[in-house]
Amino acid sequence: MIDIIAGINWGDEGKGRIVDMLCGSYDITARYQGGNNAGHTVVNERGKFVLNLLPSGIFHENVVNVMGGGMAIDLEHLCGEIARLKSAGIKIDEGNLMISSDAVICTPYHKLLDELEEDRLGNMKFGSTRRGIAPVYADKYMKKALKMRDLLEGGIAEKVERLVEWKNLTIRSGYKNNSITAEKITDWLKVFGAPLLGFIRETGAYLEKAADAGKKILMEAQLGALRDIDFGIYPYTTSSSTIAAYAPIGAGIPRYKPDVVIGVMKAYSSCVGEGPFTADLDGAEGGDLRAAGFEYGAATGRPRRVGAFDVPASRYGVKVQGADYTALTKLDVLSYMDTIPVCEAYEVDGEITREFIRGDRLMRAKPVIKRLPGFKTDISGCRKKAALPKAAREYISYIEEQTECPIKYVSTGPERDACIEM
Ligand code: GDP
Repeated sequence: MIDIIAGINWGDEGKGRIVDMLCGSYDITARYQGGNNAGHTVVNERGKFVLNLLPSGIFHENVVNVMGGGMAIDLEHLCGEIARLKSAGIKIDEGNLMISSDAVICTPYHKLLDELEEDRLGNMKFGSTRRGIAPVYADKYMKKALKMRDLLEGGIAEKVERLVEWKNLTIRSGYKNNSITAEKITDWLKVFGAPLLGFIRETGAYLEKAADAGKKILMEAQLGALRDIDFGIYPYTTSSSTIAAYAPIGAGIPRYKPDVVIGVMKAYSSCVGEGPFTADLDGAEGGDLRAAGFEYGAATGRPRRVGAFDVPASRYGVKVQGADYTALTKLDVLSYMDTIPVCEAYEVDGEITREFIRGDRLMRAKPVIKRLPGFKTDISGCRKKAALPKAAREYISYIEEQTECPIKYVSTGPERDACIEM
């Protein structure tokens, strides 16, 4: 059985906590794309953890965690993440963590190029996390990236020599920056690659065997539908495919079809970085919501833009993810509101549309805001649908109707058990 957890919005929907909550009943969790440019926050009995690269199943002793070939891995960051979790007593060894030999390596020169380009763009910047993700995926498609496999095979110094010569054409002549040296990059690969060597596997073959043996596999996305390179708000997207249809490819078993896709969306909107964000609430209303939801990036600490639940964007997200049902997170955050704003449609060029739009028209879209009754009750202790106030149940039904997809879970707090099965 293969299930997928994917984001419906701009990321930060709370996927990590939903994976953490569900993955105890799976044998394997697999991350299928992205790098350390975003983070899942997981709160469980061991404490609060931010995961940028490791799959969220890492906290469950009997779950095997696979970092798929669709990922881009910063070795130094991964070593740090593993060390941090181990020092908190989390078991991580070759029995419960595997890294695909196909994943590409995000090196210090990718980070440098990300920095140089964002700085060059100035006011026109994309809001990159400057962690090298766009440059490393660009190299992957130029067939000039290093893969985890290269750490196991010989001749890495020669490969790096050739790559650095090519990179310096851009770094030195293009950006007029100091050159990088092949020795430094090779040393970095050796120092931070060495502790990871034992984890590198042909994970596709492992997953295939597991799937054929009837093991339960949960595939986990980073970011959300609106950040997908093909279906998102390009160019304000990430550089990989965040959608569920890519999960079997990025995880390493392309011929398998998922059984269930679980879409995760938040009870309001939030967005980190630049780009169109139609349901934006600025001023005091936005400030209150940001504070109530503690909306600061898990990877960067940057304040997130916050807004009303965006119906057109979420219905589109549900569709492109092919979600069978959804989990609605952070409903408790809205409990201070007298009325809850929702963006029901967009007004663009004098027309009202319920459909999500992309490209330049989205930049011009204004939100059509409707206000629903607030519930003004602390719901963080609610564990059953019947315990929720009527206005909260009506808000859930409204979103279910508008997104045209059943809501199966509603979370009312960050803790593992703070969730209602509807
Ligand atoms: P992800 O990348 O999709 O996993 O999302 P993030 O980790 O960036 O953001 C989710 C944040 O919301 C984390 O800090 C979670 O601990 C927190 N969170 C998740 N679910 C809930 C919830 O139901 N209520 C509250 N108050 N916080 C939640």
